[in-house]
Amino acid sequence: MTKLAPVLSAHWDEKDSFTLEAYKRHGGYKASEKALAMDPDAVIQLVKDSGLRGRGGAGFPTGMKWGFIPQGDNKDHYLVVNADESEPGTCKDTPLLMANPHVLIEGCIIACHAIRAKHAFIYIRGEVTHVVRRVNQAIADAYAAEILGKGVDVVLHIGAGAYICGEETALLDSLEGFRGQPRLRPPFPAIAGLYARPTVVNNVESISSVPAIVMNGAEWYQSMGTEKSKGTTLYSLSGHVVNPGQFEAPLGITLREILELAGGVRKGHKLKFWTPGGSSTPLFTDEHLDVPLDYEGVAAAGSMLGTKALQIFDETTCVVRAVLRWTEFYKHESCGKCTPCREGTWWLVQILRDLEAGKGTEADLAKLLDLCDNIMGRSFCALGDGATSPITSSIKYFRDEYIAHLTNGGCPFDPVASTLFVGAGA
Ligand code: SF4
Repeated sequence: MTKLAPVLSAHWDEKDSFTLEAYKRHGGYKASEKALAMDPDAVIQLVKDSGLRGRGGAGFPTGMKWGFIPQGDNKDHYLVVNADESEPGTCKDTPLLMANPHVLIEGCIIACHAIRAKHAFIYIRGEVTHVVRRVNQAIADAYAAEILGKGVDVVLHIGAGAYICGEETALLDSLEGFRGQPRLRPPFPAIAGLYARPTVVNNVESISSVPAIVMNGAEWYQSMGTEKSKGTTLYSLSGHVVNPGQFEAPLGITLREILELAGGVRKGHKLKFWTPGGSSTPLFTDEHLDVPLDYEGVAAAGSMLGTKALQIFDETTCVVRAVLRWTEFYKHESCGKCTPCREGTWWLVQILRDLEAGKGTEADLAKLLDLCDNIMGRSFCALGDGATSPITSSIKYFRDEYIAHLTNGGCPFDPVASTLFVGAGA
C-alpha cells in the first residue's frame, strides 16, 4: 500500500510548528540561503527538473510558468500567491498556513529570486481571520529577524470573499482595487499581470513545495509520484469518513488507500459518490476507488484532480440535493461578466429545485443537459464550465435517482437519516 509521505506536513503535530523558532529548528530558511547563492535561471531550471506542477487546480508546470517571465526588461516583476481557497470541499492551504506559514514565506523569497522580483503579494480570503492573523504574525516575525526586507518584501492582502477571485486574473483585478472579474487573455499575467507588469501567480501549496525541492534536489522530488505527476501533495478528505482531514501522499495514491488510512467510510455505511478535486470536478462513484489520484489518472477516468478535495458521500445522501446545493453556490458566485454563466447558472438552479421537489418531467433532464452544453466551453472562465460538472456527471451515474424524485413526487430520502455535508469544508 502507498504510504503517507509527509514533507509539507512533516512537523504539523508539534504544537509550536507555526513559529519561526520551530521552522528554523527543522532547517527552515536554509533553502532560501542556498537559492540566493544560485543563479536565478538555475533555480528555475531546478524547479522545472523537479516536475512540480501547480497545486491550485490546473496542474501547470511551476518552473515553466516562472520561465515565461521576460528577463532584462527593466520592469518590476511580481509574485502573487493565490491563497483565496474557496472551492467547496477544499481545505489544504488553510491548514498549511495555520501549521507552517514560514514555509510559504521562504518559498516566496526563493520564487522572487528566480523571477527577479522584489515584491510578493499573498492574496487571502477575508473570511479566514484566524489564518490572516497567523500569516501576518509570521511576516512580522520574518521582518523582525531581517529575513524579509533585505531583498524581498511580502504583503498580505485580504480579499472580500468572492470565489471568482481565486481565478488568477480576477484576483489581480481585485488586488489592484477593482471589482474581481476575469480578464481577457492574452496578454497573460507573465507579460502584463499585476499593474501591467510581468507577474507569476502561484498557489500556496505550489510555492510552499519549493524550499524542500531546493534543499533536497530535483531527483529527490522526482522519485515520488507517478511518471508525469511528481512529488507529494495534500489531499483533503471530508464528509462521511471516520477520520477526515489532510493526508499528504505521493501523487498517484488511490481513494481506496486514503480511505484505509482514514478509517474508512463511517461505520455501517458505504460509499455512494465522491469528488476527486472539489465540487467543480465531475463526480466519481465506488467504481473509481482504484483510480490513481494524479493529473493523468483522474483525467483518463473522466474527471479532474483539481484541488484534490475528496468529498465523500455515503448512501444516505441524495445526489440531487447535493448537486442543487453546489449549483446554488456557483449561481451565487457567478461574477456576471458573461451571459452563459450569469443566466445559465440561474436557470440550472430553477430546474434543479423543481426536480429535487419532484416537480417537472423527464424532459427537464434533457433541458438541464442542454443548458449545461450551452454553458460548457462557452463561458468566459472556468467557473461556468465547473458549474456544469456535478450536474452532467450525476445524471450520467444517477439518472434513476433523478427519475425517482419525479415518480415519488419529492425526495425519496429520509431527511433525518441523510446527513448531507457533515464534515465537508466550504
Ligand atoms: Fe464571470 Fe461566470 Fe463568466 Fe467566469 S464564467 S466570467 S464567473 S460570469
